[in-house]
Amino acid sequence: MRALVLSDIHGNLEALAAVLDAAGTWDALWNLGDMVGYGASPNEVLALIRAQATWTVRGNHDRVCCGLGSSRHFNPTARSAAKWTAETLTEENLEWLRALPQGPLDAELKTPIPVHVTLAHGSPLNEDQYIHNMRDAWAPLQQTPTAITFFGHTHIQGGFAQRDHDWQELHPLYHSRKGSDMWTLPIEPGMRYLINPGSVGQPRDFDWRAAFAIYDSETSEIIYHRVPYDLESTQKRMLEAGLPRRLSARLKEGR
Ligand code: ZN
Repeated sequence: MRALVLSDIHGNLEALAAVLDAAGTWDALWNLGDMVGYGASPNEVLALIRAQATWTVRGNHDRVCCGLGSSRHFNPTARSAAKWTAETLTEENLEWLRALPQGPLDAELKTPIPVHVTLAHGSPLNEDQYIHNMRDAWAPLQQTPTAITFFGHTHIQGGFAQRDHDWQELHPLYHSRKGSDMWTLPIEPGMRYLINPGSVGQPRDFDWRAAFAIYDSETSEIIYHRVPYDLESTQKRMLEAGLPRRLSARLKEGR
C-alpha cells in the first residue's frame, strides 16, 4: 500500500500539479489540511483534491476561509489573503470545507498488511498547535494511539522519532536545491514517529521546491520528496489576483 501524503497546499495549483505528476501511482491520498489560503487558485486546488483525496483533515486556514473561525490570530498578510480566498471560493467549496473533520483522524486500512496511522494538521493533541521541536513533539509521541502520525502546519519537512530513550529529529538530506530529489526513511519496529511531509504550496524550510511524502507500508518506508514547479506562473497569478506581494515573493525563498 502506497499512500501519498500532502499538506499545506495553500491554493498553489502549479505546485500541486507538479506533485501529483511526480508521485507516480498510489493507493490512498492522505491530505493534512490548509488546502486554501495564501495562494491564488483555491477552487482549482479543491477540484483536484476533492476528486482524489481518500482522507482529509481541515487546517486552520481552511477553517478561517470558510467562516468557521476568526482571522484575528492571523498576521495582516494572512488575514487579507483569507478574506480574498473567502470571497473567491464557490459556495459549494465553502460548504465542503465547513464539513471537513477536525484532526486527529484515525486512518485504518484493511490491506493485506493492515495499516493504522493518525492524521492531523497541527498536533494530534491540538489542531492549532505547531510541532517545531522535540519539546513540542514529546507529548504527542507519547499519547497518539498509532506508531506513525502524519502532521503538517509548520511547512517544514521532516519529523521526530522516539523509542525509549532514543530521540531523533528527522531532516531529509538532499544533494542540491535543483531538480527533483528524494530521501528515504526506513521505519524501525518499536519506534514511534511524527512525520511532516512538508508543504506543497508554501515551503518554509529554505527550499522553494514543493514537498510531499510517500508512505509505503510494504517496504516500511517513508520517502520524502522535493519537486520543482512553475513558480513564475504561480507568482504571476497571485499578483494578478491582487494578493499581497510578500506572499508571492516568499515562495522563491522557501520561507
Ligand atoms: Zn499552512
